[in-house]
Amino acid sequence: MELEHDCPECGESKTFYRAASTTLHLGEKVKWHCPDCDYGFVRIDGDDGVDTSTADA
Ligand SMILES: [Zn+2]
Repeated sequence: MELEHDCPECGESKTFYRAASTTLHLGEKVKWHCPDCDYGFVRIDGDDGVDTSTADA
């Protein structure tokens, strides 16, 4: 799966790839990663899409 998302490191929209996913009681926690830099973020699907920023690579 891929996700179109704005990357603050690259300064443009990138096609993020799914680096990891964990199923939680509130939905599926998916870690997305930029293909061109080390930026990644975690999003929980199922609860209207909660964005949680993480900078860990
Ligand atoms: Zn990037």
